[in-house]
Amino acid sequence: MEINTITQEELETLLRYTECSQHIIICTHKSPDGDALGASLAWLEFLSNRGKTADIIIPDAYPDFLQWLPNSEKIIRYDKHKERAETLMCGADLIFCLDFNAFGRVDEMEQTLRDSPAKKIMIDHHMDPVMDTVLTVSRPEMSSTCELVFRIMHQSGDFGKMTPKCAACIYCGMMTDTGGFTYNSNNPEIYFIISELLTKGINKDKIYRNVFNNYSSWAIRLRGYIMCQKLNVLNGYNASYFSISRQTMKDFHFIKGDAEGLVNEPLKIKGMKLSVSLREDDRRDNLVWLSLRSVDNFPCNEMAAEFFNGGGHLNASGGRLECSLEEAEETVRKAIMHYADRLR
Ligand code: 5GP
Ligand code: MN
Repeated sequence: MEINTITQEELETLLRYTECSQHIIICTHKSPDGDALGASLAWLEFLSNRGKTADIIIPDAYPDFLQWLPNSEKIIRYDKHKERAETLMCGADLIFCLDFNAFGRVDEMEQTLRDSPAKKIMIDHHMDPVMDTVLTVSRPEMSSTCELVFRIMHQSGDFGKMTPKCAACIYCGMMTDTGGFTYNSNNPEIYFIISELLTKGINKDKIYRNVFNNYSSWAIRLRGYIMCQKLNVLNGYNASYFSISRQTMKDFHFIKGDAEGLVNEPLKIKGMKLSVSLREDDRRDNLVWLSLRSVDNFPCNEMAAEFFNGGGHLNASGGRLECSLEEAEETVRKAIMHYADRLR
């Protein structure tokens, strides 16, 4: 199976910048998910294969269910170690930007990333990349950045020496970005890659459990409560939304990741085409985070861009609104009405 995806020229450019850089950083988007972290950790191995060390810097916390990722203890959080992260970014000569397509996606870290004199290389699978880089490897047709990273490593001749730890990181990202291979995952090459990863001795069943069956009892109760008490189903529109308020988060001892994937749950309702979740920021007033999921060809990224200052993929997108939760819910209803024809 042909899995090469980057051009010879892209590969040469990538290797040339890597070769001549001494202070390399890998960074990824805010609220990093399995793909963002898996790709970053795998990329560390790519660099180490070339005799390079690097620091991984991420904007903020990542969920409990990703703490098992090998080498995750090396990751530096910008929100916790701002000074150190800024010094590193300032002194870097090369920054790999993984799994994001615009500077704004690193949130609080944006200015530091922009101001860094380092050359930037983007490796990503989101549409419409808009960053100033020396090399943009953008492949929206890939199911995950991890899939793209695997292909690049393979193409570079590194598959033979790929460690089981690296294989596990790549598998994790491929699995999480496709909801356990339930969406965006019809490309047969994905399963060729998985079979290659399995030859490295990864335990894919355990990785699944680590990620998806790792809730605290509080998180399970929160999810039940939200589905029972907070779900609004707009039957005539094949759409639904729910909100998680700061008070609810307090009541259920919320920690990062507790609501992960919950936005997919309403899509299990027969005929449902769109699900929207709203979450109040845990600290800032008048800041609401939105996640959208859709099925078939309903473009939830267009809705996110038009109504929620966001974007993303056709079937998975997100955004933010600077208003109260009630006002945000009103905007969600408006958005659904606006798209009524395409939802019915
Ligand atoms: P999630 O709901 O998991 O936070 O995000 C779903 C998808 O939407 C992810 O692929 C993510 O990259 C994208 N996304 C989330 N928030 C934003 C945003 O504010 N802007 C853009 N362009 N994409 C977003
Ligand atoms: Mn991704």
